[in-house]
Amino acid sequence: MKIAKTIEEVRLQVKEWRAQGLTVGLVPTMGYLHEGHASLIDASHRDNDRTVVSDFVNPMQFSPSEDLESYPRDIEHDAQLVEAHGGDLIFHPEPEEMYHKGFSSFVDMTVLTEELCGLSRPIHFRGVCTVVSKLFNIVQPDRAYFGKKDAQQLAVIRHMVDDLNMNLEIIGCPIVREADGLAKSSRNTYLNDAERKAALVLSQAVFLGMDMVRQGEKNCDVILNQMKAHIQSEPLAKMDYVKIVDCETMQQISVLDRPALCAMAVYIGKTRLIDNFFTEDIEK
Ligand code: AMP
Repeated sequence: MKIAKTIEEVRLQVKEWRAQGLTVGLVPTMGYLHEGHASLIDASHRDNDRTVVSDFVNPMQFSPSEDLESYPRDIEHDAQLVEAHGGDLIFHPEPEEMYHKGFSSFVDMTVLTEELCGLSRPIHFRGVCTVVSKLFNIVQPDRAYFGKKDAQQLAVIRHMVDDLNMNLEIIGCPIVREADGLAKSSRNTYLNDAERKAALVLSQAVFLGMDMVRQGEKNCDVILNQMKAHIQSEPLAKMDYVKIVDCETMQQISVLDRPALCAMAVYIGKTRLIDNFFTEDIEK
């Protein structure tokens, strides 16, 4: 397993694999890898001959008030995890390698990025679409793997690939959770003991919502009101949003008459956490 710091190294390696007729999967990450990331690497390892994991905290998707500087990083640990899960190459560039002086081209998307996380993080998806496009161009994978944990991101990437005729397949992978339900996230390391306990309101609200859907509730307000009441019962939690949207358009709906996404962002202390469920994934 190799760590490449430059675009040229990645290109040379992928060219060599292509010359041997091998398929390539890409798992884009911001590093500080956990079992959620590992599940994407496992999926890529299953589907492809070679797997590239990008490990890059992308400055472009953070606004000045966000946690770019404090975002956790540990490339040695990441390298061990990638190797243990069958990854073949880590792409770990410096920001200057990805954004040279004078960088001025962006991939911007309307509509889908204007709801949910896009409302509280207005420049976020432009940064995500731009860096993911660059990674697709650098690696030119057959398939790329994204977690349903970042459900809006997955929808945005699928839409971008479709809009811009990018020649690869996007694979969405299930949310990996801690034993008590909390969705795994690199940002969970910010939580102190009391916050870690309080953070359970997110997954508990998700399970509550899923149960109501399973029992046949179709009225989105009825579902959302119960979920919100549960989150509000936790003093350390401050709701950013809890919404039910059409899976593809990310626009709010009031009745569950089509495949929907129920997504939330909640501050636990200063840490903003997200969780969600897709109605289509609920086993009847
Ligand atoms: P990040 O490093 O947080 O940017 O995440 C990189 C990729 O891993 C994204 O596609 C995430 O959706 C995915 N991911 C992060 N946490 C989880 C999780 N708990 N379960 C499944 N996928 C995840």
